[in-house]
Amino acid sequence: MKRVLLVGPPGSGKGTQAEKICKYLNIPHISTGGMLRDAVASGSDLGKKIEGILAKGELVSDELITSIVGERLGRDDCKNGFLLDGFPRTKAQAQALDRILVDKPLTHIIELVVPHEDIVKRLLDRAKVQARSDDTIDVIENRIKVYEAQTKTVVEHYSGSRFFKIDGSKTIDEVSHDVRKVLEHLS
Ligand code: AMP
Repeated sequence: MKRVLLVGPPGSGKGTQAEKICKYLNIPHISTGGMLRDAVASGSDLGKKIEGILAKGELVSDELITSIVGERLGRDDCKNGFLLDGFPRTKAQAQALDRILVDKPLTHIIELVVPHEDIVKRLLDRAKVQARSDDTIDVIENRIKVYEAQTKTVVEHYSGSRFFKIDGSKTIDEVSHDVRKVLEHLS
């Protein structure tokens, strides 16, 4: 049973690797960014509330995102494992997740490490093809800044044998291979 947390800055290839891992392990991909973007697209009350926050690359409140994730992890399809992508992003979220998973802790925390220049370049390339409203240069810099300021504290929250650092600057297939090795290392 694998309960995986994938951590990495925007543009680290987290989404691509998350999809591959979920297919390989047959577990649901819990992407908080994806869930929030879906809420905005649906035009729901929640979507209207968070639209501006997402567009600026800022974080929605810890309380809101924690309740969304708590509800999602309580569904049946998470009973045999899951992959978290984009949550937790702050220390408070990491502590809230510990409480949610009190009797079934994360089995693998995987950090994708990519140099700053590579991330900016990848995000700008993606902006050209995807037209994501949060992929302009200023917003990109802001998202990386937010990541560096807040999310690193999340990495510090996890340590020991369940934590793995992977070089995310290699090719997609190479990174995927390294990730699988880590997933097979502990089960
Ligand atoms: P992502 O696709 O993971 O980069 O997330 C896109 C945007 O959704 C972020 O820039 C935040 O505005 C918001 N978001 C996603 N996950 C979280 C989270 N765990 N806490 C707060 N905001 C989040």
